[in-house]
Amino acid sequence: MTIYNEKQQEIAEKISPNARISNWKDWKWQLKHSIRDISTFEKVTGIEFEESEMESLEKTIAKFPLSITPYYLSLIDTEDYRNDPFFKQSFPSPSELIIDKYDMKDPLAEDKDSPVPGITHRYPDRVLFHISNICSMYCRHCTRKRKVGDVDSIPGKDEILKGIEYIKNTPAVRDVLLSGGDPFMLSDDYLDWILTELRKIPSVEVIRIGTRMPVVLPYRITDGLVAVLKKHHPLWINTQFNHPRAITDSSKEALRKLADAGIPLGNQSVLLAGVNDCPRIMKKLVHKLVQNRVRPYYLYQCDLSEGLSHFRTPVGKGIEIMESLIGHTSGFAVPTYVIDAPGGGGKIPVTPTYLISWSTNKVVLRNYEGVITTYKEPDSYEPVFCDRNCRDCKLQLKLEEAEEIHAIGIEKLLSDYDDAISLIPESTDRIERRDKLEMEIRS
Ligand SMILES: *Cc1c(COP(=O)(O)O)cnc(C)c1O
Ligand code: SF4
Repeated sequence: MTIYNEKQQEIAEKISPNARISNWKDWKWQLKHSIRDISTFEKVTGIEFEESEMESLEKTIAKFPLSITPYYLSLIDTEDYRNDPFFKQSFPSPSELIIDKYDMKDPLAEDKDSPVPGITHRYPDRVLFHISNICSMYCRHCTRKRKVGDVDSIPGKDEILKGIEYIKNTPAVRDVLLSGGDPFMLSDDYLDWILTELRKIPSVEVIRIGTRMPVVLPYRITDGLVAVLKKHHPLWINTQFNHPRAITDSSKEALRKLADAGIPLGNQSVLLAGVNDCPRIMKKLVHKLVQNRVRPYYLYQCDLSEGLSHFRTPVGKGIEIMESLIGHTSGFAVPTYVIDAPGGGGKIPVTPTYLISWSTNKVVLRNYEGVITTYKEPDSYEPVFCDRNCRDCKLQLKLEEAEEIHAIGIEKLLSDYDDAISLIPESTDRIERRDKLEMEIRS
């Protein structure tokens, strides 16, 4: 395996004249020598920017800081850097200063759904727990750009304990998603402590970690870290490869270590204009992922955070990509394309349409090739009437406790046991008129 190639050696020597392969593969050396200003970037890559451009670049990094690991920098094709996917993901663009009419500081309203600092509780049974505000590299397309580079970045034990206390007191939470920043910026010992504390909570069934380390700093996946993670199963990891060329020998090695430790691996890509907005690139990416035991999980539509307008594609591009994957390749290589609802409604799946028509006893479907087919529905189907009285039901749930006490949203409209017949938005003029009328009748 060529973990250290000529280009990397050249970069290492420019950064620090006595650098060796052992330095290059040391994640702390990589962090210490991350490129944080434009003149160092120029020196290391040999790329030179014009003076007029420098000014706008400096302005950009004053607002959204720059940090690139030497490893990630080594992925950039300096011959054609303007079109390079890694350059685009890591190097500032003056377009980041453009704020579109619909851009928001916190488009997903994570702060509004935050009961205690660091926790976002949006879904019934799982929470997002931000345990680090720092990353090894600052992705230019970061959703949480507003928080990147904040001082006092790693929360202390007191603050972490508040989050853990919330999870302890909220037994509905069965899945805890550790995120950041990058959780793997914490030391092995600190992570071990957090995971141990979480594991003490009986209602926590699974722990997930979201990290970009296998992509931007694969050497962080050390045997020591893996030994810590292994102690806290069931533990899942999601990473973020956006381009097939990011799956290098070093990345493969990191993924192999994690997978060999029995950690199920997933990948959350972001659809980025000029980086991966191409069915062919995405197909290559998902194939390389599954070869390395990583299941493509989500493909995100780029959200409405400030400074990302140049990365956004029309939703149609995502649907086109999904059309080119579903049926054309292994089912487990196909991610779910999602739009994270602006205003904070969570992730909404978007797919091409396969159900094209239906009658009372037949549905008409089309497949990926354009075949149109019918599925004949059963003539006699004895519906299961559900009044939530599981004890007297013919279906055998037979579990100690019944989960899901109440239905939410559309699920509620479909249920037999809830009387709701419609979901009505609050405070429309019509509803206000209706409320007023009711009050008048009553008085
Ligand atoms: C994405 C996300 C989750 C996890 O969602 P899954 O669909 O279960 O992966 C949980 N909380 C928040 C706030 C999220 O954004
Ligand atoms: S398939 Fe088309 S868009 Fe994709 S890389 Fe090739 S030429 Fe570019």
